[in-house]
Amino acid sequence: MKLVFATGNKGKLREAREILGPSFDVLSPADLGIHEDVAETGATIKENSIIKAEAFGALSGLDCFADDTGLEVDALGGAPGVHAARYAVDVALRDGAPLPADHDFSANIDTLLRELSKHPGEPRTARFRSVVTLRLGGEMYFFEGTLEGHIAHERSGFGGFGYDPVFIADEYPGCSVAELPEEVKNAISHRGKALRAMARWLQERE
Ligand code: IMP
Repeated sequence: MKLVFATGNKGKLREAREILGPSFDVLSPADLGIHEDVAETGATIKENSIIKAEAFGALSGLDCFADDTGLEVDALGGAPGVHAARYAVDVALRDGAPLPADHDFSANIDTLLRELSKHPGEPRTARFRSVVTLRLGGEMYFFEGTLEGHIAHERSGFGGFGYDPVFIADEYPGCSVAELPEEVKNAISHRGKALRAMARWLQERE
């Protein structure tokens, strides 16, 4: 089955192809010559996921899915949440500090560690939450997944992407998600759970 994955994130694309396996032909917008950037203006991860699935489904004319992921850190009252991709920018704006680039993973991690260091002694528990929107024949269907864990005090590992170097999953407490082999991350991850739920649902429909 051919599906467009509404993302420009190469890490997400690699993971989705691995998770969904050979019965799905997963195309990126770039594979189809589509290079539009869609503003993620939603107030929730579900809204952002819908915005991306709508936009790239319409641009490609094909069935399409999108994922939006938030990182909820308990000691920070659930921040960065839906704003995980631009956390460093939001905090710099709040503090009147020089602005880092948008979507700068490294600056986002630096900001997260700095903000958490203001809460010594508090639990560093956190979770990734993904909502996948599938746009199929113009209808929308939703699938969710979470990964529970905590935020490390420093980075380790070079795999994955985003916040993986500082995220310790409950299932593998001895290392960061960036140190896990990709298939192990995919077996436990928020996106893995949501995408496998979507694949099961599609296969049961056939
Ligand atoms: P978005 O879903 O692309 O908007 O992702 C929001 C933010 O969370 C971005 O900074 C991503 O890098 C980060 N993120 C999304 N998925 C993951 C993941 O699986 N591991 C680590 N960071 C992630």
